[in-house]
Amino acid sequence: MSASWLDLPADSGFGLNNLPYGVFSTPGTAARTGIAVGEYVLDLAAVTGDLVHATGSLNGFMAQGPSEWRELRERVTGWLIDSSHRGDVEPHVLPRDQVQMHLPIEMADYVDFYSSQHHAENIGRMFRPDSPPLTPNWKHLPIGYHGRAGTVRISGTPVVRPCGQRKAPTEDSPTFGPSQRLDIEAEVGFVVGTPSELGTPVPVGAFAEHVFGVCVVNDWSARDIQAWEYVPLGPMLGKSFLTSVSPWVVPLAALEAARIAPPTRDPQPLPYLRDDDHPWALDITLEVRLNGALISRPCFGSMYWTAAQQLAHLTVNGASLRTGDLFASGTVSGPEKHQRGSFIELSWAGAEPLTLADGSTRTFLEDGDVVAITATAPGAVGGRISFGEVRGEVVPARCG
Ligand code: CA
Repeated sequence: MSASWLDLPADSGFGLNNLPYGVFSTPGTAARTGIAVGEYVLDLAAVTGDLVHATGSLNGFMAQGPSEWRELRERVTGWLIDSSHRGDVEPHVLPRDQVQMHLPIEMADYVDFYSSQHHAENIGRMFRPDSPPLTPNWKHLPIGYHGRAGTVRISGTPVVRPCGQRKAPTEDSPTFGPSQRLDIEAEVGFVVGTPSELGTPVPVGAFAEHVFGVCVVNDWSARDIQAWEYVPLGPMLGKSFLTSVSPWVVPLAALEAARIAPPTRDPQPLPYLRDDDHPWALDITLEVRLNGALISRPCFGSMYWTAAQQLAHLTVNGASLRTGDLFASGTVSGPEKHQRGSFIELSWAGAEPLTLADGSTRTFLEDGDVVAITATAPGAVGGRISFGEVRGEVVPARCG
C-alpha cells in the first residue's frame, strides 16, 4: 500500500489498511463521524460535507449498504495517499488524544452468543462436574440469548457494582446485596449495517452484505447473581447492568487478511449452518489487562462457530435485522490457561486465585480495578491492525 502524506508510524495499528469508524466530539461541537488514522481522527462530517456523517451515530451510513461502504473507503484511502488532496483534507484532521469518543451506534437489538468451545467446556466442568462439559445442543447450534441493548455503553463508562439476589449452594435461602463475584467476558462484537426483512432468513453467504464492522466487547457479568437466576430461562440481571464496547468499529473490509479456516466441526452442522464456501473465522488476538498488567491473551481464531454462522442462526426463524444490531461472540477462551477470557476461568471459580505483579491476589473484581481489553489482527500488506480498547473501572455498589 502506498504511503500517506500524513505521518503514520508503521506500527500504529491505525494505518491505511484499517480506517475504523467512530463518533467523536471536541469541546463545544456536536458529535459526528470520524475515521481513526495514525494518532489522528479524520472528521468525515467536515471533509465530506455529507450530513449522514453529522448525525452522532454511524447508523445512517451503515444503512446505506456495502457498495457505499466500499466507495467511501476507497475515496478516503485516495485522499490520504494522494498529496494533491492534502490542502483540502488536512484542516479536518485532529489529534486523537484531543477528542472525546461516544457510543458509535444507535443501538437496536443486542444478542450474545456462547461460541468458544474451550470457554463452554471450562464453565461446564465447573458447574456440572458430573455431566459432559458441553450440553447436547452445543455442537448443533450457536447458543445465545437476547441481551439488553439499552445498557450497551461506550468504553470508559464506570462499572457500578450491581446488586441483586445471590444464593450459594450451601445456603438455604437467597440474600440481597452487592455482587461478590463481578467478572469480565472478553468478546468480539459484530455490528449490523444492512437490515433484513421479517420472515426472511439471512444465509451464511450473505454475512458481508449485512455486517458493517467489528469491535471489542466486555460483557460484564455478576457470577453470583447469574448462578441463582439463570435456570431455566438464561442470563438476565447478572448481565444486563452494563456491556461495554470499544469506540472504533473496524470495517469488515479491513479484515480480509485475518480470515482463516474455522476449526473442524464434528458432527457436521445442519445445512443452514455449513460454511465451507464462506469461512469467516478471524485471526484476532485479544489482550486483557487488569490495572495495567497483562493477564490473558484469548485467541478468537479458535472459536467453534463463526459470526457468519451466528448471523444465519439468529435469523433462521425469520427474525429480522435492524441497522445498529450488535451480536457478540461469547467469551473468547483458548485452550491454554493464559488464553482464558474471564476471571471465573482464570481463577477456576475462585479456587485458584491469580497472583498479580504487586503480590496481591484476585479471584473476582474489586472496587477500583480497571480492566482494559485490546485486540489486533493481521492487516493487508503486513503488520497488525488495532481495534483500540474497551476499558472500565469498577466503582462501589449503590444499593446501600
Ligand atoms: Ca457473554
